[in-house]
Amino acid sequence: MKEILQDHSLEEIEALVSELGEPKYRAGQLFRGLMRGGRISDISELSKAFKAKLLERFEDEPVRIAQVFTASDGTEKYLFELADGNIIEGVLMRYKYGNTQCVSTQVGCRMDCAFCASGLNGLIRNLTAGEILSQVLVVNARLGGTPNKRAVTNVVLMGSGEPLDNYANTVRFLRNVTAPGGICISARNISLSTCGLVPRMYDLAEEGIPVNLTVSLHAPSDEERARIMPVARAYKIADILAACDAYFAKTGRRYIFEYSLIAGENDGKMHAEQLVALLRGRPCHVNLIRLNEVKERNLAGVSEKDAYRFLGLLERGGLSATLRRTIGADIGGACGQLRAGYLQGEGKA
Ligand code: SAH
Repeated sequence: MKEILQDHSLEEIEALVSELGEPKYRAGQLFRGLMRGGRISDISELSKAFKAKLLERFEDEPVRIAQVFTASDGTEKYLFELADGNIIEGVLMRYKYGNTQCVSTQVGCRMDCAFCASGLNGLIRNLTAGEILSQVLVVNARLGGTPNKRAVTNVVLMGSGEPLDNYANTVRFLRNVTAPGGICISARNISLSTCGLVPRMYDLAEEGIPVNLTVSLHAPSDEERARIMPVARAYKIADILAACDAYFAKTGRRYIFEYSLIAGENDGKMHAEQLVALLRGRPCHVNLIRLNEVKERNLAGVSEKDAYRFLGLLERGGLSATLRRTIGADIGGACGQLRAGYLQGEGKA
């Protein structure tokens, strides 16, 4: 694979352009062209000769929308093809306040959570910063947005992969996606979800990019968490909470816990009570999700009624909590499911 030009900041592109012997104003044209989400070869402001020089070294189109699935509620799911033929997926959710795009940070994942489709074949490779950014750029362009008038207003790092397991590229992406002059999405409109890689959570607090920190908790005790999340053997809930508090102290941002309700596993009254005891009084919010059943994983979701009952227990216990509404249900699929289905269809899995 060639290099990815979208990995770079405006300043880096300025240096590259002068290295290639082009006048400085070309850098601005090139950068703005990239941010519009098209191919390098389609940037009309640039000369053919300059584009040919760029294309010797850089991928013309690092992320291509290969397939789109549209749900009746307007949610769109995408299969993206990378320059090396790998497939990743993403989702665009439409809300009253704007459009939220869910991006992937890795091809596959090595965390192997018991309920998740992304880890079914392990980690294939990390995405570069520019491959993460390009997911946003091509979807923004698809929806008719420009860098000045964004169609994608919010970004969540909740697609395939563990963002903090691809730390340097994820942070580079966060810098570039929030940078003035680019697509410039504010850090407060970005949420990063992690399974709880504690040392990297402390590092993130120091980066000066105050994104919303979301942690996948899914169980109120270390023992039960370890049954469904192998990473829980490495990092204890108490250490995760301490890292969240450090993040809050540094950024002033309330943190969020994701809790996917799995029938007979983490959905009991006792679990709700334990969660309340664990989290009461903390500057946090709990996001309940009804498990999306993954056919390769032998776990069942809960009914809507049971999910609301669990929510009620948390609220009565004094926690701030919501049940995430199921969106795009008719096009199916939690993290990794689209890709897993695609790979099976192709006979690649
Ligand atoms: N690796 C990051 C991002 C993953 S995806 C993390 O672990 O947070 C975002 C959320 O979806 C996580 O909370 C993840 O645990 C959850 N998730 C994954 N598969 C799911 C499924 N089948 N049903 C419900 N939630 C799921």
